[in-house]
Amino acid sequence: MSCTLNNHQMRVFRLMDISPSLQFALTSLTGGPVKVGPCGMSLATLQPQGDSRLMQRRHMKHKGAINVLIGFLVSGSLVLAAQAQEPLSVQPVSSGVFVHIAVHEDATADNRGMIANVGFIIGQRCVAVIDSGGSLAGGRALRAAIRLQTDKPVCYVINTHVHPDHIYGNSAFIEDRPRYIGHRNLAAAMRARQVYYAAYLDRTIGTELARPSALVFPDQFVDSVQEIDLGDRKLILQAWPTSHTDNDLTVFDVQTATLWLGDLLFRERIPTLDGRLAGWLSTMTQLESIPARQVVPGHGQFSSDWPAVLIPQREYLQRLQKDVRSALKANRSLQQATDEIGASNRAQWKLFEESHRHNVTAAFTELEWED
Ligand SMILES: [Zn+2]
Repeated sequence: MSCTLNNHQMRVFRLMDISPSLQFALTSLTGGPVKVGPCGMSLATLQPQGDSRLMQRRHMKHKGAINVLIGFLVSGSLVLAAQAQEPLSVQPVSSGVFVHIAVHEDATADNRGMIANVGFIIGQRCVAVIDSGGSLAGGRALRAAIRLQTDKPVCYVINTHVHPDHIYGNSAFIEDRPRYIGHRNLAAAMRARQVYYAAYLDRTIGTELARPSALVFPDQFVDSVQEIDLGDRKLILQAWPTSHTDNDLTVFDVQTATLWLGDLLFRERIPTLDGRLAGWLSTMTQLESIPARQVVPGHGQFSSDWPAVLIPQREYLQRLQKDVRSALKANRSLQQATDEIGASNRAQWKLFEESHRHNVTAAFTELEWED
């Protein structure tokens, strides 16, 4: 029976996808990267570092050992590597625009931290990734999904903001050598949170997925508005004043009038406040004037009902603002405010319990200094 690995499968099997101990063992035996031959169980060295006779002798000497080793690899690591790169499910939003609509869950090993919407836009020349997911494994799955749609290179990885479910897949694209783009404040926010986020990742998705998920910082920054071109396809990137976070960025695809909002819009899942409530409400008002035909939220289904799709979130945030102001006026303590505010909103949002008390606390802290 013959079998052939295609280029994608070859890439899957590169040494970087194999466990460190096996990498060491194979590199020692072969003196270079390895690949599986046309029938899976044989081994050939690839690109030995120079034309080394020593390397060739070493290869012959250890050929038997290698074949035994490769048997384990094929039955074990290849399966694991293939699983790690199984393409993420994506759906088209508009022509050349694809999104993975994430589950409404907290990050776990099972979901690999892929709990925020991520996606990509394909131009004539290259591809822009918009948010990369919550782990290296998730980012690789997104990369595999891109490869199902196009062979064009990934030239930009855009992060809509600092939250870990949006940035920890960045490292999956390093070999594409893209520009990593974010809000002017993004790098500082990543630096400030990286120790906390590393612990968070370890705690939620587990050490095995967390450890290889390196933080990749932006190398291109957006101060206000910036245009990038994917080849006959312009994207307008816009940095916003402190709203959901202090580093929110939107992406507008001019060709299809698709607006990628990051977590400036939550649908179904309760919004989380990590920036400034008044700023977020004001930003939402400004967003309304963007002539979008469809919008992609950071969480929840994409929609063409723009700007009406903003209404539930605006009502939640306005209600939060009103209730916290009332509590402050009545000299309620923070503890009393978090206990009392918002019970009537409970049924409207998924994961309400997890974030609502935090939102009251954030709003209380912000509004107690209000005039
Ligand atoms: Zn967020």
